[in-house]
Amino acid sequence: MEKRICILAGDGIGPEVTSEAVRVLDAVAEKFGHTFSYEHIDIGGCSIDKYGVPITDENMGRCKAADAVLLGAVGGPKWDLCPADIRPEKALLAVRKELGLFANLRPTKLFQELASASPLKPEVIGCGIDLMIVRELTGGIYFGKRSTVERDGELVASDVMEYSEHEIERIGRVAFETARRRNRRLASVDKANVLDTSRLWREVMHRLAAEYPDVSYTDILVDNCAMQLIRNPAQFDVIVTENMFGDILSDEASMLTGSIGMMPSASLSADGPGMYEPIHGSAPDIAGQDIANPLGTILSASMMLRYSFGMGTEADAVETAVSAVLNAGYRTGDIMQEGCTRVSCSKMGELVSEML
Ligand code: NAD
Repeated sequence: MEKRICILAGDGIGPEVTSEAVRVLDAVAEKFGHTFSYEHIDIGGCSIDKYGVPITDENMGRCKAADAVLLGAVGGPKWDLCPADIRPEKALLAVRKELGLFANLRPTKLFQELASASPLKPEVIGCGIDLMIVRELTGGIYFGKRSTVERDGELVASDVMEYSEHEIERIGRVAFETARRRNRRLASVDKANVLDTSRLWREVMHRLAAEYPDVSYTDILVDNCAMQLIRNPAQFDVIVTENMFGDILSDEASMLTGSIGMMPSASLSADGPGMYEPIHGSAPDIAGQDIANPLGTILSASMMLRYSFGMGTEADAVETAVSAVLNAGYRTGDIMQEGCTRVSCSKMGELVSEML
């Protein structure tokens, strides 16, 4: 297959970790006979420095025309004082909006080799953690009407949470299809005992559940889900939820593995290119030192292979290679353990490529 990938390396450690993901993609291309071409595009602080905006219209057009987009991270202290409308993070919201990325997929997988990094007790993680959170990304309270007005001598603020049936249905379908590709269990998270949006959410999910009889479906209230993620994360396979609940629960889940540098994510649209990125930021404290952990970005590239290119075997090969490198005792500084060999960012990328 031939695929064109936009690389948005961004700021801080972004260029370091994306370089290693590209190295691994090149190894995949060689091993499986594909051709990947790359277009490098400025985003975030580096784009502000060059063009005065966090992403130019022309570069946005290039992203739209690609088969997939791989992002490093944006931001850093240098741009903290930029006016709100040209801050680096603005580019991320703009790309999500322009590409129609309504579904955010965040896997939380504990590599057994890193079990001691988890804040959970060994008996809780004994059964392993391997779950996927499917979060609605372009609706709900973050996109509703907001206002702050003065009333009776004090300020009153409000944010409106709104969901339409079609928004719920399209994220629901992504979740059911994702469950089908995994262990066929889906938990839908809401607050249907209080919120109207949640009651509609539940109604639409139940309609969909009837179309997917092969997926075992359950409803769970968001407060209970937050608790169950800590009590017994192994009970979950796929979790689907609205934007704000997903924002909070996916950060909670990412901590279960104890290592932010390991966590990938995918954001998908109905028919355009998907965007793949590690969940960490630009880590200015360690940028330019070749010590960042590139595995979150490498695993994001693996999600790209699986979800945008339909290359499941290739994605499995990348994940197996990552496991094998960890199993052989290689660690970047953030996941370093006694008795292991500490390696740089670039060495880690090289080891995964060689293992492939
Ligand atoms: P961060 O994720 O950049 O860093 C938090 C801590 O984790 C730091 O100590 C950092 O060194 C460490 N860390 C992060 N990624 C690592 C990796 N791959 N390997 C080893 N260690 C790693 O979060 P922050 O410090 O809150 O934010 C820094 C900048 O990144 C800010 O400007 C913020 O706005 C931006 N940010 C961007 C994104 C994004 O681009 N998607 C996400 C979050 C934060």
